[in-house]
Amino acid sequence: MRIILANPRGFCAGVNMAIECLERALDFFGPPVYVYHEIVHNKYVVDRFKGRGTVFVESLDEVPEGSPLLYSAHGVSPQIREQARGRRLVAVDATCPLVTKVHLEAIKYAREGYTIFLIGHEGHDEVIGTMGEAPEQMVLVETAEDVEKLDIGNPEKLAYLTQTTLSVDDANLVIAALRRRFPQIANPPKDDICYATQNRQEGVRELASRSDLVLVLGSQNSSNSRRLAEIALSLGVPSHLIDGVSEIRAEWFEGVGTVLITAGASAPEDVVQECVDYLVRNHGATMEEAYVREENVHFPLPKSLRELLPAGSR
Ligand code: SF4
Repeated sequence: MRIILANPRGFCAGVNMAIECLERALDFFGPPVYVYHEIVHNKYVVDRFKGRGTVFVESLDEVPEGSPLLYSAHGVSPQIREQARGRRLVAVDATCPLVTKVHLEAIKYAREGYTIFLIGHEGHDEVIGTMGEAPEQMVLVETAEDVEKLDIGNPEKLAYLTQTTLSVDDANLVIAALRRRFPQIANPPKDDICYATQNRQEGVRELASRSDLVLVLGSQNSSNSRRLAEIALSLGVPSHLIDGVSEIRAEWFEGVGTVLITAGASAPEDVVQECVDYLVRNHGATMEEAYVREENVHFPLPKSLRELLPAGSR
């Protein structure tokens, strides 16, 4: 058996920053540190932080007044920021700057009187946060069929934005449907689907055809990880999205010569290596690294944390 390890894979700059932010906050405040929603959508990362005294909450009512609170990499709505101020929480904002960019675009279009279509998945933390910037002017669309059913007349000022972790191909179908129906629709100058999502998808598109099976490391609630498994399937290659080696089933590998392994932007490298070790041990697999893109993106710690830390440790 041969393993192809896709590059880039795993942690993106936003996830690295959010994780470092939480580690530094735990060191600085001591436990418990509260986080609104999962810091990133990955079971291993979340469980590890729970073990260190992090409390993940779905409502700020669960956070005692005056406590430290982190906003996750997916961002929050202004309503949550307001509520945190009301409860005198010490807020540290670990929102990925590429999510913040979409928030700022929403604010700008809303101020200029646009109706904004947000292409994204209903209920996702990022979508809830972005929609919260201008709820009365934003409309969520998930599919091209949704676009056909829209009943908003034909206002002059229309724009679209997208969630950062969509499938590029699926988003393009929705954008094409929007452009067909509303040829005057505006869009931001630069893609909202982030570099990490695009690069990991490109990896699967390029490498899946050389494989008999694709393993994607990532959690079921991780949007960008799910898209990777779906892309492999759409190319006719069986794929499985797994949190770690314990979910592997021996029968998946019957008649399989080459396995492509990749990981979503929130999946740690150690879960990838555990899967590699399993295949080496049980199937005598050999491994090759395949590179489709270079990634050198790094985000600094957010100002809200740097301002709290002693000067020498920022
Ligand atoms: S996947 Fe993209 S938008 Fe999400 S945290 Fe990573 S870099 Fe930021």
